[in-house]
Parts: sequence; C-alpha cells; structure tokens
Amino acid sequence: MKPTRIAAVTPIAAHVGRRNLCLVRIVCEDGTVGWGEAGLTGRERAVIGILEHFAPLLVGEDPGRIGHLWQRLYRSQYFEGGRVITAALSAIDLALHDIKGRRLGVPVHDLLGGRQRETVPAFASTAREPDETMIEQARELVSLGWNCIRLSAAQHYTSDVFDPRTSIAETAHWMAAARDALGSPPVLGIDYHHRLSVAEAASFCRKMAPGTLDFLEEPIRAESPAAYRQLRAMTDIPFAIGEEFASKWDAIAYVEGGLTQFLRIDVCVVGGLTEAAKIAGWAEAHYLDLMPHNPLGPLCTAASVHLAAAIPNFAWLECRDTPVESCGFDAPDFFDGAPGLDGACYRIPTRPGLGVEVDEAALRASPAVMAPAAPLLSSPDGAVANW
Ligand SMILES: [Mg+2]
Repeated sequence: MKPTRIAAVTPIAAHVGRRNLCLVRIVCEDGTVGWGEAGLTGRERAVIGILEHFAPLLVGEDPGRIGHLWQRLYRSQYFEGGRVITAALSAIDLALHDIKGRRLGVPVHDLLGGRQRETVPAFASTAREPDETMIEQARELVSLGWNCIRLSAAQHYTSDVFDPRTSIAETAHWMAAARDALGSPPVLGIDYHHRLSVAEAASFCRKMAPGTLDFLEEPIRAESPAAYRQLRAMTDIPFAIGEEFASKWDAIAYVEGGLTQFLRIDVCVVGGLTEAAKIAGWAEAHYLDLMPHNPLGPLCTAASVHLAAAIPNFAWLECRDTPVESCGFDAPDFFDGAPGLDGACYRIPTRPGLGVEVDEAALRASPAVMAPAAPLLSSPDGAVANW
C-alpha cells in the first residue's frame, strides 16, 4: 500500500431524524475519505471546537498510525482527556479506521482481529411508559425472536418533573407483571437513566423478587465508584454501566472492583475503537461482556457492530429501530450501508472500512439545531433532577 498523508479534517454537525449528529470527515492526499461520529449529543459546538484544535495536529500525518495519533490527540495539551476531548477523539479514531479499511480493502472488523461470530445480537427497548401495552410490545418482540428486552421505567419520558418514589413504586409493579407475563428465558432489563440516589436505587432493587430483572442500567450517576460500591453491596441484580465513560481510566474501578456486570461503553464517547478494544480486553480478563450504547447514527452503529464482531466477550448491541420503536437513527436519506438486521441480530458489514457511505450534500442541507438536547427535569420540590 502506497503511503499517504492526511490532507484535511472537517467537522460537520447535522440534524438527522430527531437529533443532531456530530461527524468528522478526513480526507487523505490519495483521495481516500473516512468518516467518524462523536457522541455527546447536545454539546456539538464544544466537540467541533476540539476537532478544530485537533485538525492541525493531524494534517500531514500518516493516517495508518492510529494508536500513535490517539496518544498525540489525547495528550496534546497539559489538560489531557475529558469527555469532550474523547468524544472528538472517538470521531477521529473511527474515521482513521474507516480510512485504513478502505485503503486495505477490508472491513474494519478485520483490522480488529477478524470475526469472532457470524452475527451480532441486539437488544430492543419498549418505547413507552410501563403499562399493558409495554408488556404487549415485549411479547411481540419475543415472538419475533428478540431474547433481550429493555423495559421502561415510569416517568422515563417525562419532560418536566421526575418523582423518584412514585416512579419506583409504579415501575416495580410493572416489572413484576412483565416477568409474570413473559416468563423465562427472555432477558429483561431496565434503564433508570442515572436518575436515582443510592437509597432510592436500593429501594427499587429490594422491590424486585429474585429473577425479575436480569440487568439494571444506570440506576445512579457514574462519577463515583464508591457510591456504586455501596449500592453493589445492597443488591444482587447485575448492573449495566458505562455509556458515559470517557476512557479506560473511567472504566478501571468498575471492571476491577466488580461494580458492573455489563459494560455499556459507547465507541463515540470512550475514545473510539482503539480505546473500546482495550476496555474489551480488560473486561474479558474479568469475564465481563460488553453491551454497547448505540443511540446515534449509522457510523456509530457500524463501528459498534465491527467491534462486537471482533471481540469474544459480547452480549447485545443496543438497537433503537425495531418492530416496536422507530427512532430513525438508520437515516437512509443521509447514509447508505447502515448495518441491517436479520431478525434480532445485526448483519456484519462486508464492505471495506466501516461500510457506510455518507451523503455529505444531504448533511449540509440539514444543519444541526443548536438547542438544549435534553429536557431540563426537576424534582417535585423544584430542585434539579437528572434527565
Ligand atoms: Mg442508558
């Protein structure tokens, strides 16, 4: 393969479906183009700013030195790391893998060691507050072959006031009803979107009869491993944590301390495939599976599918376009080649690179909407609550 150099690095923020996507386009002197995506929805201006800081560090460099460039960007200032930086770094890392795969004519999973599996299992989410219809949606999913379903917490979709105690009482009732209705073996989980305190989360867990829930996602915020250590001692329900981790260093206490049983890392936040693969190896040594976060566009999905294909310790990939939910994240008007589903599993892409073609003109015709992305939730007494 003839050497080449990076010629240009261009951030693009576009409004796609119901949210903004923050992308980066890297062009090489030989004409190869690679695309990557950054997480941190709602903070596009900051991520674009970091991408603009990174561009001069990348132009003129060999795009094949992905690990070296990762270190250069992460440690390019005295104040290394942080979620804004790693979100931007993730996009760069994905684009560099895309470029390397395209230049070698191989899919990205071949760069990560090749396929460990023939297909990538996904989990589905019910798309409403808990009620009979939520159970019907779960039943439909099970009938269509989905064996891992994330149910909804009461008040999950509220946009103003979140009352943890009434949410817990109602959610506990419907979780028990769902398990009764669905029986075993479907894997059932729930995402509490880090809205509870330690005491509230413990209270919720104690209302769950043994065998009701197979995983509890983000019961509390993840800044404090010590808080999770307290909660871990109060319940035996497996935890699924990590979508906010912004490096291997964020993950270390959780993996080594036994604080989470599934790793929800996001390839568009944690530092791209380079960092995700390192965490996967670390998790493998502790018999922990990855359950990656995947709430963005087709580049995130494709990168996650390539990673899932290439690691041995993988459970399910989040999927938000299913028979019961349509978030429009596959966005066929903007992207060609988004990984498709066969039943409840993603097909593993075979095209070179990430395998996704991007319609740049369509993205530029749909600029990002720079407004707060998340509702500003309050507690019943008016204090700030997490969304
Ligand atoms: Mg979550």
